[in-house]
Amino acid sequence: MARQVDGVWLPERVSGHPALDAALCDVKRLRFALHAAMVDNSADAAAQLHKFVTGAVRASRYVRDEASALRLDGGAGLRMPLHRFTLSLATLLEQYPRRAIRSCADDACGWLFLDPSGRRRWCEMAVCGNRAKARRYAQRHKPRGEA
Ligand SMILES: [Zn+2]
Repeated sequence: MARQVDGVWLPERVSGHPALDAALCDVKRLRFALHAAMVDNSADAAAQLHKFVTGAVRASRYVRDEASALRLDGGAGLRMPLHRFTLSLATLLEQYPRRAIRSCADDACGWLFLDPSGRRRWCEMAVCGNRAKARRYAQRHKPRGEA
């Protein structure tokens, strides 16, 4: 079963704790915004991404990592994983051109993947690529008379 919280569908087995549900809703909103920004090139989605990034920066403080570099820590508490992911995402989006972040050619998949070469079609050849090959093979070897 699923239930809707603030316009986002959550599985029933989530805690029911309002703060946890709200954090999970934000994880899903970030995922939707990222997908819309990359696939649809949506300005609204880019604005949503901006809100997540500014929220993550606001919650963070600078700390030194093992390599003695300064990095934003994502803060603490329930939203720390979301903030850390958002900060990593912002870095990735700044490092690669838009064309390097591609969506899988399988319409049923919907995954995004990083492809700086611009030559890949599938998120994973072993999954979506092979499924497409199997479909093409079945189409070519279909008995005559079948549509
Ligand atoms: Zn795929």
